[in-house]
Parts: sequence; C-alpha cells; structure tokens
Amino acid sequence: MNTRSLSVALLLSALSPARALDADFPPTIVPPAAADLWVSFDKTDLAKPEAAEFPLSGPVLSDERTAVYKVRAEMLPLLSQFMHERFNRCGGYLTHDTMTAARASMRPTAAVPRIAYTLDQQATVAPLVAGVREENIRGVISAMAAHNNRYYASPTGVEAARWLRGRWSELAAKIPGASAELFAHASWKQPSVILAIPGSENPEEIVVLGGHLDSINGWGNSAARAPGADDNASGIAVLTEAARILAESGYRPKRTIQFIGYAAEEVGLRGSQEIAAKYASGGKKVVGVIQYDMSNFAGSGEGIFLLTDYVDPALSAFTARLIDAYAGVKSYTTKCGYGCSDHASWTKKGFPAAMAFEATFDGSNPAIHSERDTLASSGGDASHSVPFAKLAVAFAVELAKTAPPAGTN
Ligand SMILES: [Zn+2]
Repeated sequence: MNTRSLSVALLLSALSPARALDADFPPTIVPPAAADLWVSFDKTDLAKPEAAEFPLSGPVLSDERTAVYKVRAEMLPLLSQFMHERFNRCGGYLTHDTMTAARASMRPTAAVPRIAYTLDQQATVAPLVAGVREENIRGVISAMAAHNNRYYASPTGVEAARWLRGRWSELAAKIPGASAELFAHASWKQPSVILAIPGSENPEEIVVLGGHLDSINGWGNSAARAPGADDNASGIAVLTEAARILAESGYRPKRTIQFIGYAAEEVGLRGSQEIAAKYASGGKKVVGVIQYDMSNFAGSGEGIFLLTDYVDPALSAFTARLIDAYAGVKSYTTKCGYGCSDHASWTKKGFPAAMAFEATFDGSNPAIHSERDTLASSGGDASHSVPFAKLAVAFAVELAKTAPPAGTN
C-alpha cells in the first residue's frame, strides 16, 4: 500500500465514529472555542475522480459552482489532509464561522476600483533589489522552522506569531511612523501579524504583501512536528527581507505598505478571510495584493510562477513585467485551484491580487504538511527565494508611488 492510499485509508477510518473512539487515533487536537463551522468547496473539484472518497455528505448550501458543508472544527485538519493527499493542494477549501458568512461568500462581490499599474521606478528599485541577501532569507526560514509547529491551535503557533511580530518590530523601529502589530482573531488563539509603513501622500491607499505564518502536520496533531520551512516560512522570510531592505534604505512610500503574516491559512484561509472581510467592510482602499506561499523549492527549475486562477489578470500581468524588469529570472504561469492560498480571500472580496509560486503546481514541494518540510528538503539554502524577495521590493515600490510622470508606462 503506498503512502497516499494508506493515509487516505487512515483518514477515512478516523472519520467513522467507532474508529474515532480509539485512544491513539485521531491524534489529540486542541479545538477552537467555536466548534461548528461551514466549509465551501468548488463543485468541479468534488466532481473529479480524486474526490471519490470525499469524507463529507449532504451540503447544507449549494449553487452551480460551490457546495457548503457544516463541520466540527476538529474536522478541518482532516479536510486539509484530504485535499493535500488527493489534490496536492496547500489549501483547497474556505472555512466560514457562520452559515451567513458561508452564504455571503457564494455571492459575487463587486470589484473595487482598479488603479493603473505603471513601471517607472527603476532608479529607486534597481539599487534596492541589489541588496537582497540569501543568508537573511535562510535565517528567517530557519528561525520559523525551529518552532515545533506553527499550527493555528497550538501554543507554538502563537509563539511563532509573536516571534515574527518581534522581528518585524525591529524593522518598524527604523521607519518613522511604522508599526508591527498583532491582529487578534476571535475564534482561535494564533494572531496574524501586520507591519505597516504609512504612506506620505495617500496613506489611506494600501499595498499588501502577504503570506501565511502557520504550518500544519497532515493529521492536525497540535503537538506534531511541522517545520513548514517551504510552506510557508519561505514566504514569510521573503517578506521580511523585502521589509528589511525598505527599512534600512530610508525609502518612504507615498501609499501605505502593509506586510501581513496570516494566521490559520492551513485550515481554510481563515486569517486572511477575516482580514480581507474587515478591510472590505471598512471601505479600505487596497490597490494591490501579492501573495507568497512557498518560494524555496525549485521543482520546475529557475523562475517565478504566477497563478492564473482566482487572481486579478491585470495585476498578474503587471507582476510578470516586474519579474522581467527586476527579479533576474523569467516568469511563468500555473494554476492551483479553489481556496489554494490567501490571495483567494482578497479576490473573493473584490480586491486585485496576484500570487507568486515556486514551481508549476505539479512541480511544487511534495514534502509540505509533514515533518519532512525542512530547509534541507528545499535545497539547504534560500537561493530559489532570492528573486521572490526582489519581486517583493519592486512590487512595493512600484505600487506605493502615487502619480507617475505623464507619458510614462
Ligand atoms: Zn502554504
């Protein structure tokens, strides 16, 4: 029996009430306070052969594209494991705290007004991207991966978020008016982390660079080892290196730049959905979002792979131009599917989002969601992530200007 069929067999047996009474399995889970949740899946995923043993029956809501199921919170890691086993996804579904929220997520959201994306900051960006250092990215990956896990419902998941807030506070201290704050979530303990650099001209307009800070072991055991070096300490490390460069250069944006480390991505994009919903209901003007989720495994060779699904086409095309101009590698495209990562939370709320990925979807790191997702299993250094950090610097600077000179493009 291969690992995949063994794991799915264990998963399915764990879901039967008789098996769940066993002392040793499923492993101990720390349940969040609110136990009933609603999870949405893409119906085209559920119709695929890979979903033949989909562990839920009877959606409580359904339309032509989406099916929503009511579950207990303890089910989330098992659903993540199912989507990982069968679809090779980091995510793959969306979790909602209430039925009302699930229903609202099925309605199309009006897109927020778009800005024109222009590329004209070479004089500023070129010297900044030259400062990206592989050893800094490697250092943050190692520090994040040193936590036993960063699971959203484990004490070390909270510790890891606090560690990141500390690191980002050191950077914020170098920038007038900047701050690094925890964003508390009502339904679980792990906070998100936001490093904000205020804009000098249009501070109400926001450029978001984000990635999830949590990790998961496939069985959702809150004590199990889940280094998450690639998924997604690498994305957090890329963001941190870009923030370091901006902080130490004396650069000041005209729009506000926010670096966000999202909590609880691995259990249905919960942290980013809450943040995107809050920004939408608060009328915040988010002019562009880039998501970093796995940047360190060179499974398809050199380059940055931009997702083409659940993203904004114009911003993604512009991001490809930024890669050509500044990252020192070529850009490619790939698809990842429904609920793949936090960019989907922003897209769902009408905000323009792009997503930069390490490889083609099929070439991505097979060790994620296990104790094997170590720095060693993505090559032992952070060299594949270096162009991603250059892109992050370029994305921040080119989007956080306000009025490009007339006639430029
Ligand atoms: Zn991930």
